[in-house]
Amino acid sequence: MSISANINDFKKQLGAVKVKLIAVSKTQPIEKIQEAYDAGHKIFGENQVQEMVEKHEALPKDIEWHLIGHLQTNKVKYIAPFVSVIHSVDSLKLLQEINKQALKNNRIIDCLFQVYIADEDTKFGLGYDELIELLRSEEFAELKNVRITGVMGIATNTNNQKQIKEEFYELATLFNGLKTAFFRKQPEFKEISMGMSSDYLVAIEQGSTMIRVGSAIFGVRSRKP
Ligand SMILES: *Cc1c(COP(=O)(O)O)cnc(C)c1O
Repeated sequence: MSISANINDFKKQLGAVKVKLIAVSKTQPIEKIQEAYDAGHKIFGENQVQEMVEKHEALPKDIEWHLIGHLQTNKVKYIAPFVSVIHSVDSLKLLQEINKQALKNNRIIDCLFQVYIADEDTKFGLGYDELIELLRSEEFAELKNVRITGVMGIATNTNNQKQIKEEFYELATLFNGLKTAFFRKQPEFKEISMGMSSDYLVAIEQGSTMIRVGSAIFGVRSRKP
């Protein structure tokens, strides 16, 4: 199917459940993103800073760019002027740098905490204890130019549906706990970013509010991300 047909298909599926679709365009050429844009889609996810900067420059300016990959502190400055949401905050140090660069650009940047839910060593993210400690710290309380809008997680890369379901359930449960303990008065803390091409249906069933879908829209990637 074509990119525009895929986009329209997702729109139809997601309209009823009010889940936001992040079209993951990493490794995809400008023309393919333009095709999705022309089909009416304006939210794209990238996992590399330089690629996102180049695409932001080349494409229409009303696109919402979401950073979904690991972010190094020294690269925050390149995306701070335009990035919409950073899904991959995995340390206080990184959050402090995002805050600093947001301030320089006179912006408030939306951020999600990436939480480690997978049964794998390779994935980035905060552990539960680490996240709680961060939220309780004085340094965190001082940050005024970042807005924490929720959590993000990547499930284990497995065919075991039960395991994936449990990992998403865990993330949703953590989200609810954090909401009660730390963000009760912050209605903007409302996002659970979970679910990709292979597991978005399970993710939605478990309460996802943002799914990050690449190959199911653009086809298989030629280069490894
Ligand atoms: C690549 C990527 C996706 C999308 O993966 P697909 O399987 O192509 O849908 C989602 N989230 C993150 C963090 C990614 O790096």
